[in-house]
Amino acid sequence: SEERSLNFIEEIVEADLASGKHKSILTRFPPEPNGYLHMGHAKSICLNFGLAKKYGGQTNLRFDDTNPVTEDTEYVDSIKEDVQWLGFNWANELYASDYFEQLYGFAVDLIKKGLAYVDDSTSEEIAAQKGTPTQPGVASVYRSRSIEENLELFADMRAGKYKDGEKVLRAKIDMASTNMLLRDPIIYRIKHAHHHRTGDAWCIYPMYDFAHGQSDSIENITHSICTLEFIPHRPMYDWCIENLGIFPSKQYEFARLNMTYTVMSKRKLLQLVNEGHVTAWDDPRMPTISAMRRRGFTPESIREFCDKIGVAKRENLIDFGLLEFCVREHLNKIAQRRMVVFDPLKVTISNYLNESETLSSENNPEDENGGNRAVPFTREIYIEREDFMEVAPKKYFRLAPGQMVRLKSAYIIKCDDFVKDAEGNITEVRCSYIPESKSGNDTSGINVKGTLHWVSAAHAIPVEIRLYDRLFTEENVGNAEGDFKDYINPNSLQVIAKAYAEPALAEATLADRFQFLRKGYFCLDKDSTANKLVFNRTVTLKDTWAK
Ligand code: ATP
Ligand code: MG
Ligand code: MG
Repeated sequence: SEERSLNFIEEIVEADLASGKHKSILTRFPPEPNGYLHMGHAKSICLNFGLAKKYGGQTNLRFDDTNPVTEDTEYVDSIKEDVQWLGFNWANELYASDYFEQLYGFAVDLIKKGLAYVDDSTSEEIAAQKGTPTQPGVASVYRSRSIEENLELFADMRAGKYKDGEKVLRAKIDMASTNMLLRDPIIYRIKHAHHHRTGDAWCIYPMYDFAHGQSDSIENITHSICTLEFIPHRPMYDWCIENLGIFPSKQYEFARLNMTYTVMSKRKLLQLVNEGHVTAWDDPRMPTISAMRRRGFTPESIREFCDKIGVAKRENLIDFGLLEFCVREHLNKIAQRRMVVFDPLKVTISNYLNESETLSSENNPEDENGGNRAVPFTREIYIEREDFMEVAPKKYFRLAPGQMVRLKSAYIIKCDDFVKDAEGNITEVRCSYIPESKSGNDTSGINVKGTLHWVSAAHAIPVEIRLYDRLFTEENVGNAEGDFKDYINPNSLQVIAKAYAEPALAEATLADRFQFLRKGYFCLDKDSTANKLVFNRTVTLKDTWAK
């Protein structure tokens, strides 16, 4: 991609390297394994891994798995697959749960410094103590517990002496702080739950604000990049590092990615899956990385998109059409051209008396090494029903009585006649071909304006085609009134059960990218079987999102 100016995080990194504050940088991508990654995560991945790549540093993949209830190894596996597919390699695969012992030690250290206490208040009582931003909070009666008592109670919490919610550990900071998150935040809670990695070893779990920064610090992360919602968490991030005297990782915030006509929250995406609005996390209409992979988007185009949108400091809404533009640009360069007729109308070429012949068609005019493929031509072919009109308006350069068109990579044909059934539907078009007009060897001297895609009837393979539209009807679903599911587009999937594909498509693999002439970019779907191939439309040929 072309030269662009530095984003604000690159400026910070360059300054830190120039001043010698860091000799090299270490970033991390810290997903919680509670869902599949989406485009917002792709943005974060490209940013974190991209920075390291650009400045010769490294990036850790750290699973932020401190919440036992919502997490699962299925998600861990999908996240690893997605990061690799995007083209990035992590230096270390790490788990916040591997730090549970160390984090526990940090909590004990705070208690010993008089900076944390066990509180028996209920969560309602604690919320009430915190007060409102305009008024100072009220100290818990347990705030003055002795260090010895706190150490003993915290050890008992760990040992499983108490039930969920009976006690918490709170940091002792400032009940009058203007930052509500510093009003003695809870740093450990009791949760008797099975963890997907640590099993039943723990019944107390650290809160996000006590786990994240310390995990960064344990790994010597230099630049910890997160989204803007975490700005108010930064003082707590720094407070922990300072009071524990551990490696000073620094948090920087950028604007999360929001895109038009979709939602970008694992919680909402999970609802779409669980309530059957889509078939799975990788349903090609979803904004997840696995869905985009299945739909035929390429990692190159997603990286290009992330680079194009840049790194902002203020929330914004990015046009989904921009991602499609990037996909289209890349696919135009790499996609193999093929012909598929979606709504077939039979054409008989009356004066074609050969059994058949094999024509040659270029795989990709954008790629001089793309080669050619064999395309069989016979007396009976299919064209699109919409490419014939009984009574054609002016400037209709397709087939109509008396009109001529070129069949792609084949001959010029002329419509002589057509056949209708009892209901008046056109069932067949009869043409004659011009033998001297063969593509690449045309001596006919005839100029025609229209070129049609077509498939030999005897060689056509029936395939299923899935066309996708935006998942929501509302541009800014995140900000729309009411439930986001009220805005689901009921027509986001259109299935063409039986289209006719040229025989070369019988060899399609999941890795191939195609342009079906005049129809868009397509790829094989994983639902395909030997008897029935299914193709997804990745994106249309032109932008149809224009408002
Ligand atoms: P969600 O709200 O969808 O559950 P999350 O932020 O809770 O997302 P995490 O797994 O905690 O998901 O996020 C991993 C990383 O990805 C974090 O650093 C987070 O800031 C980043 N991230 C998540 N969503 C976006 C987004 N929309 N744009 C940019 N970065 C994002
Ligand atoms: Mg999260
Ligand atoms: Mg979240």
